Amino acid sequence: MTVKKLITVPDEALRKKSQDIQKIGREEKKLIQNLFETMYHHKGIGLAAIQIGIPKRIIVLDVMQKDDQRKPLCFINPVIKNLSNEKSKYEEGCLSIPNTFIEIERPKTCLIEYIDIDGKKKNMNCDNLLSTCIQHEINHLDGKLIIDFLSKLKKDLIIKKLSKTRQNTDRIVV
Ligand code: ZN
Repeated sequence: MTVKKLITVPDEALRKKSQDIQKIGREEKKLIQNLFETMYHHKGIGLAAIQIGIPKRIIVLDVMQKDDQRKPLCFINPVIKNLSNEKSKYEEGCLSIPNTFIEIERPKTCLIEYIDIDGKKKNMNCDNLLSTCIQHEINHLDGKLIIDFLSKLKKDLIIKKLSKTRQNTDRIVV
């Protein structure tokens, strides 16, 4: 297992639409292991393959947030089948958008159809934190980010700030 480098805003790869997986072979299983390793390393509770630059519809999640009580979940080709009218609200951060938290209201429960790591078709009813988290990750698969929930002005400010940070990091004096 390997901790992979995360890609961050404004990297255009984050805007790509990820593709469905046709079969789960050795390569896909290794990718899933690397996604878990990378997510736990960065203390995230969810990660989509595109966040390490791979445009495949694979998501890993673990909303337990405690190292001694891990509950790893993997969703391949996830599809939202139902969303509740009732909403819940969380302050969401994103491993691809450092130091940014945005309050977002999303459906409180959702029904997800997906394929598990053994290639079996499954359904899962998700609520509260799990519901928000999986919707956030499915957004990644479609190239959508939490900053898209903001007005254009606020969004541009965040992108500008993060672009500057990146330039400063790369600047060297020799
Ligand atoms: Zn994210």
